[in-house]
Amino acid sequence: MEYLSPNPSISQDDQFDILNEAMQLGSLMPVTYQGLVVENTSACNAKCRMCYQAAGPTGSDILGKASLSPEQVEILLADALHIPSLARRFHLAGGEAFLRPADCFRLFRTARSLGYEDITTTTNAYWAYTPNRAAAICQEARDAGLRRMEISWDFWHLDHIRADCVSNALEAGARFGISTVLRILTTQSHSIAEALSHLRPDALELATEIQSCPVFPTGRAASEIPPDDIFYGQDLGGNCHAILHLTVNARGNVYPCCAGADQTQGLSFGNIHQESIRDIAVRMNSSRLLRTLVFFGVGALEPILREHGVQLGDRFSNICHLCWEIFSRPERAAIVHQFFREQELHEAQRLEQLLPILQSAQES
Ligand code: SF4
Repeated sequence: MEYLSPNPSISQDDQFDILNEAMQLGSLMPVTYQGLVVENTSACNAKCRMCYQAAGPTGSDILGKASLSPEQVEILLADALHIPSLARRFHLAGGEAFLRPADCFRLFRTARSLGYEDITTTTNAYWAYTPNRAAAICQEARDAGLRRMEISWDFWHLDHIRADCVSNALEAGARFGISTVLRILTTQSHSIAEALSHLRPDALELATEIQSCPVFPTGRAASEIPPDDIFYGQDLGGNCHAILHLTVNARGNVYPCCAGADQTQGLSFGNIHQESIRDIAVRMNSSRLLRTLVFFGVGALEPILREHGVQLGDRFSNICHLCWEIFSRPERAAIVHQFFREQELHEAQRLEQLLPILQSAQES
């Protein structure tokens, strides 16, 4: 490879490395997203003890009271369509998005008219307080384009939501052609069977899917759920690239997922009130920090923190819990950001050295 050697100050191996980095970053392996998640409010009618968003009637304990207007979300929906590595799925979440059902219907309609192929939502189904009310909401949502409804339900919701609301929503979803997914969180003392036992058996049979996941101690759960009741996992070596959703929280901050990082300041890559989501997505795609996190896994950050005297401990539910323990703490997030800033600076200097080599290759 003759053209790799005009600059004798860089070894041929280094030149290959630099070229590989320059070519691969962002283009050969873009960070891909399963869809766009918009959390248009931090408020929720309920205030569940396990809530990872710490949401409640006056807003989130973490984010405060914040919301995105339908107009802002519509601009976001249109912009996001220009991100090539984003699947055409729109998921509306909160807080509780259905505090304002008319806004939900409007956003489903807009998303459908823009070309989103899969339109989904998460709700606690509080609005389904009678079968007629459940039917009216589901019919209008389906007409507006909603195809799938994830319903949060578990032991902790019982303090705030009547089980009959969830049963009504399952029945109305089935009647109007909306797939329903019951999402149930568990701890050692509160099982999936316990949560399901409160629902009407006939309604339960109409659920399209039932998913269960252990509570992990982030958000309000970190202070409200006894640590010994949590399930802890052993494997923290996984990565999350296959499950990412480009997420905008109620403050307008942008994240690679809605799995807890979306409630931190440390993993925000920008704000839609200041720049377009397209520009933010471009920056995310070339971020060494994000690429390390999603392709190698959050475990790859542990040695960086250890080097700076931070011991993370070993009681984590899963990789997202570990991620939250890093990025929800400003001092830890700062160490990680500084490390990758230095890496990116170093890389920029190497690319600058490479430029004359590439130019000379083009000329020859
Ligand atoms: S590990 Fe972090 S970035 Fe990845 S999905 Fe979990 S919270 Fe999101």
